[in-house]
Amino acid sequence: MGRREEFIAKVRKLMYQPERIRNIGIVAHVDHGKTTLSDSLLADAGIISEDLAGKQLYLDFDELEKKRGITIQAANITLVHNYDGQEYLINLIDTPGHVDFGSEVVRAMRAVDGVIIVVCSVEGVMPQTETVLRQALQEKVKPILFINKVDRLIKELKLTPKEMQNRFLEIISEINELICKMKAEEWQVKVQDGSVMFGSAYHKWALSMPYMQKVGISFKDIISAYQQGDEVKLFREAPLCKVVLDSVIKHLPNPLKAQKYRIPVIWAGDKNSDVAKDMEECDSKGKLVIMTTKVIVDPHAGEVAIGRVFSGVAKPGIDVYMINSRRVGKIQQVSLYMGPERVAVDEIPAGNIVALLGLKGISAGETISSENITPFESLRISEPVITKTVEPVNPRDLAKLIEALKSVAKEDPSVRVEIDEETGEYKISGMGELHLEIIEHKLRRDKKLDIKTSEPIVVYRETVLGKSNVVEGKSPNKHNKFYITVEPLEDGIYNMIINGEIPQGKIKRKEMWRKFVEGDMPREEAKNVVCVHGTNVLIDMTKGIQHLRETMELIIEGFENAVDKGPLAQEKVAKVKVKLVDCVLHEDAVHRGPAQVLPAVKGAIHGAMKQANPTLLEPIQNIHIKVPEDFLGAVTREIQSRRGQILNMEQEGDLVEILAKAPIAEMFGFAGAIRSATEGRVLWSTENAGFERVPNELVGDVIINIRKRKGLPLEEEQET
Ligand code: GDP
Repeated sequence: MGRREEFIAKVRKLMYQPERIRNIGIVAHVDHGKTTLSDSLLADAGIISEDLAGKQLYLDFDELEKKRGITIQAANITLVHNYDGQEYLINLIDTPGHVDFGSEVVRAMRAVDGVIIVVCSVEGVMPQTETVLRQALQEKVKPILFINKVDRLIKELKLTPKEMQNRFLEIISEINELICKMKAEEWQVKVQDGSVMFGSAYHKWALSMPYMQKVGISFKDIISAYQQGDEVKLFREAPLCKVVLDSVIKHLPNPLKAQKYRIPVIWAGDKNSDVAKDMEECDSKGKLVIMTTKVIVDPHAGEVAIGRVFSGVAKPGIDVYMINSRRVGKIQQVSLYMGPERVAVDEIPAGNIVALLGLKGISAGETISSENITPFESLRISEPVITKTVEPVNPRDLAKLIEALKSVAKEDPSVRVEIDEETGEYKISGMGELHLEIIEHKLRRDKKLDIKTSEPIVVYRETVLGKSNVVEGKSPNKHNKFYITVEPLEDGIYNMIINGEIPQGKIKRKEMWRKFVEGDMPREEAKNVVCVHGTNVLIDMTKGIQHLRETMELIIEGFENAVDKGPLAQEKVAKVKVKLVDCVLHEDAVHRGPAQVLPAVKGAIHGAMKQANPTLLEPIQNIHIKVPEDFLGAVTREIQSRRGQILNMEQEGDLVEILAKAPIAEMFGFAGAIRSATEGRVLWSTENAGFERVPNELVGDVIINIRKRKGLPLEEEQET
């Protein structure tokens, strides 16, 4: 048997012993060494040979990712490690490390039971370290700590063992402080028990206190090895793979143990149901439940869904529900993902990570089950903040472009692809400048498309600040009349929609009304919600109107049209409550068709919005900055020149840590500007922070600019 076959045989055996499985992730601030660490582990305990690993970054399929040092796509690799004479199976799910991809991070986190937090010893704990650690703890994922790039402390900073120790203690206490803040005191990391490790992912060595004691190696030995230029010795005497994976097996829980306490936290279904028990016990004889963390579109095999089997056995030929999309499908093939390579197997039992083929149209976040159970994830409404138009350089490639856009949207649910029916333009929207750059790059390289794109454009929202009177909308034939009011939607309901607690689309009144009451909507309104579209709600307050039931579909469509393009600048409407208070309908269905109802409803909603103090919202970013004190003035000026606001400032050693916020519209080119203002001495990151009102004095100009760009008449009144 070759090495590969031997490896696969081991994996197949270990799959059935959940005590011998660990499902883990690696999380880090960008550039702290997550990819390098994954790669070194893979070289030793995975199926690729060592010399190959030196040349090739296995987890990063994308050159772009390599260049930027950001692992964007969460893939999965399988490792086998021997600990205390026993073999263990470790599934390493790669979690994206950039906050632009927040929803993917959370999703990948749900599939793992433990994480290695990588912190660069030179930079220390950074904002993203905190964000990902917080996300892990929220999902009840247990952390261990790897302090990386220790070689730089020795070779560049020339720290003494004492100084090094102090630096480690500082990082450890910051991590533990956060763990305690999140009420997970029992999960604090400790030097003594080996849940803290130090090393160099780059030179492939690591140490933990238990290992140092066992082998009799000390920091002095490390320093002298570097002084003698003998890094290979370190790799030989303190191999990264052994130290890190020993700690993984010793400190991170197996699925049997973890699912018991995690399922009640990460799954919202009935705690007393059979399926809850199946999952808590990681029972392969139970009902099949899989949570999909990622979907890859394979040019030959179609959609490949990667996910965690929480209970039951995944095998070809079984029929399953795809709960979120309310569909059924048949599993055609099950396999293990080992980096880019897929290996087909007969079946995969509970506690493992599986790659499924055959479920057409599946998207990431989907719950797959043999029963119609409560899903893991209610589909969040992601709020893309910037948009670009795309077109093929060669018009003949249009069909190919449309296909490619569809598959991009499927692989990454935070991307929106839309066609503007009027202009025929294709638009892609995403979570930030970098996010769109990556998508473009994918279209060019993976899909081999020659495309042109516009400059990125910020996405605005239209909303109302006040309440309108009743406004009448008449159909072109004057026989149908709709009486409508609009007002701001309750904050509570707005937040529940954003969090996915309230679904999109038509509402089954009997099921949902309590949720709306929870969000502070008056009871008589809550009982009459008909539809949620974006963050807007349509309520039918009428009573006893003839033919209304048959007309409701059209009224909903009119509402959707009205809020997809608002009255100010045809941007999407947000946080508006629309009430139908009365209406008159023609007796004959022929005279109340789409051509009559749609414009009447839309006209009434837009008319009402214009009365209700309409305004624009713009997307905002939080900016985390660390900078030496000397540059504080320069940074403050840079933020303020971009309509930004400093929210918090803290001294931390010789650095100042700043939290600021600014509108995304003002953030283009920030990277270059802040770098030159601080002579490159700045560390910073951003995260999207929702929408806020455009300042009154700017609203008029922004509207005119959008209308110009869209080729709309500059005076709204001229609109028909
Ligand atoms: P990621 O963004 O967290 O995945 O970080 P990478 O693994 O891509 O590493 C970022 C940069 O740091 C790369 O240039 C690595 O070569 C370098 N790097 C990673 N680990 C070490 C280390 O232990 N020592 C040194 N000196 N450099 C490292």
